[in-house]
Amino acid sequence: MLPDFAYHPDPLSTGSVKASDAACVCCGQRRGYVYTGPVYCVGTLASEPCIWCIADGSLAARYDAELIDVCDAPGNVPRETIEIIRRRTPGFSGWQQERRLFHCGDGAAFLGPVGAAKLAAFPDARETLRFEHSTGGWSPEQVDDFLAALDEDGDPTAYLFRCRTCGAHLAYADFT
Ligand SMILES: [Zn+2]
Ligand SMILES: [Zn+2]
Repeated sequence: MLPDFAYHPDPLSTGSVKASDAACVCCGQRRGYVYTGPVYCVGTLASEPCIWCIADGSLAARYDAELIDVCDAPGNVPRETIEIIRRRTPGFSGWQQERRLFHCGDGAAFLGPVGAAKLAAFPDARETLRFEHSTGGWSPEQVDDFLAALDEDGDPTAYLFRCRTCGAHLAYADFT
């Protein structure tokens, strides 16, 4: 059984965790799954950590590591929530600095990278993207073209989240 991550419920499906017999850089154990996403710390880890060391905070404590840089959390999100997201939740890899989305005073659960086809099933998330990219001087046609070009494995990519309170889907997109 993998640990429970409220803000990243299925890190195997999002590509941030993979099955591996490698020993964890932190606890030295071979737990069967390692984390393959970014770790922000001084220096570089010699190998990948297991996700139990992420869940219990030992990776963060030992290496003063962050799994994601949370710089834009709304003021109504509790400090402990931000710490759990920063230091005890698997991150993910984006084209640019990864972002975390928030809703209803809480962190939203990360569901994974998505392209145009998957995004079509989440019209609320599509609207958040349309709104965000409508404010930068793009015409409605340019925004439509951008949304149509979204690619789960390519570039640009959208990152899908779901609010843990109201269930709304949210997304942001980036590109190289
Ligand atoms: Zn470990
Ligand atoms: Zn909400």
